[in-house]
Amino acid sequence: MAVKNLEEYQGVWVFIEHSGGEIAPVSRELLGAGRKVADKLKTELAGVLLGSKVEEMIPEVFARGADKVYVIDDPVLEQYRTKPFTHGLFNLVQKYKPEVVLMGATTLGRDLSGAVATKLETGLTADCTELDVDPKSRLLLQTRPAFGGNIMATILCRRHRPQMATVRPRVMPEPPRQEGRTGQVIREELGLREEDIETQIVEVIEEKGKAVYLDKAEIIVAGGRGLGGAENFKLLEELADTLGGTLGASRAAVEAGWISADYQVGQTGTTVRPKVYFAIGISGAIQHLVGMQTSDVIVAINKDPDAPIIKVATYSIIGDLFKVVPALTQRFREKLGK
Ligand code: FAD
Repeated sequence: MAVKNLEEYQGVWVFIEHSGGEIAPVSRELLGAGRKVADKLKTELAGVLLGSKVEEMIPEVFARGADKVYVIDDPVLEQYRTKPFTHGLFNLVQKYKPEVVLMGATTLGRDLSGAVATKLETGLTADCTELDVDPKSRLLLQTRPAFGGNIMATILCRRHRPQMATVRPRVMPEPPRQEGRTGQVIREELGLREEDIETQIVEVIEEKGKAVYLDKAEIIVAGGRGLGGAENFKLLEELADTLGGTLGASRAAVEAGWISADYQVGQTGTTVRPKVYFAIGISGAIQHLVGMQTSDVIVAINKDPDAPIIKVATYSIIGDLFKVVPALTQRFREKLGK
């Protein structure tokens, strides 16, 4: 069912994900992206904060660029469950009619965005890597890899509102804090009691063993098929340890069973945005590039001067990784006194 009166829908919203009283980095990144979209549309940017005891986070939402914050603070929302969060966000959208709603492409964001978009009967573009807007048509330009990552598709939601998108963490920069920036707070009731919800959270068990937080790493030393075997990741580990970095990998290395899938960077792995990304024996297939090409500095080590990774690299070392990597590690150790 298409929305008849598109003009009724105004404003850009960012759903604020949080845990332990802290706003998730992806929500801060989206406030930055949302601000740009709102400015181009000459409209307001709002954060949407759902949870229990969320009051303390409101100033941070303003400091990252919001003009308004919609708040539903209710003990029922203490931990994420699909039904009460969908209920809360759906009702807010129905009442205040934003034209754009953005969320992180996290486990929570993927669940909630799908449920809310279905209830609203509007479109949702999942896993965007770029956002822009056409101020004339007011259409959100939602770009994401398509057809196995071989092309980047820009998707439009022409006849329905709001235009909804999830965006991958770490593909957009965080906006700087603007101390003392403030705005309007709009508080609403959830209107749902614990008895109305079929699911209960009995216990939260922390995941053990997954020590890799690639999306937060500042230095990543990633290896690909060029390594030729699991044992050669040792070379990369030495370089990573020297620099205080973490390992990463291409899908080819993961599929060969050389390293666990937790380390995979790319379209079907993690999107990363470290300060320095070493791509070692990685050719730079588009599905790998979409997961790392916004890194601040990219160092490619490859024996093929025509490998696609060379085109996106800040620095390229053309040569045999088995010679280059130990020499680099040695040099860094000397420089860093390790
Ligand atoms: P290759 O492409 O084989 O490249 C190996 C490189 O090593 C070459 O450039 C070679 O010159 C170099 N080399 C070899 N020996 C040496 C040496 N001694 N010294 C220096 N250089 C050397 N891939 C991902 O990485 N992440 C993803 O999330 C991902 N998702 C995908 C999703 C879909 C739907 C599909 C279809 C594919 C996906 N892929 C993904 C796979 C991707 O298309 C490539 O196949 C993969 O990235 C290739 O990995 P690679 O660069 O390690 O291997």
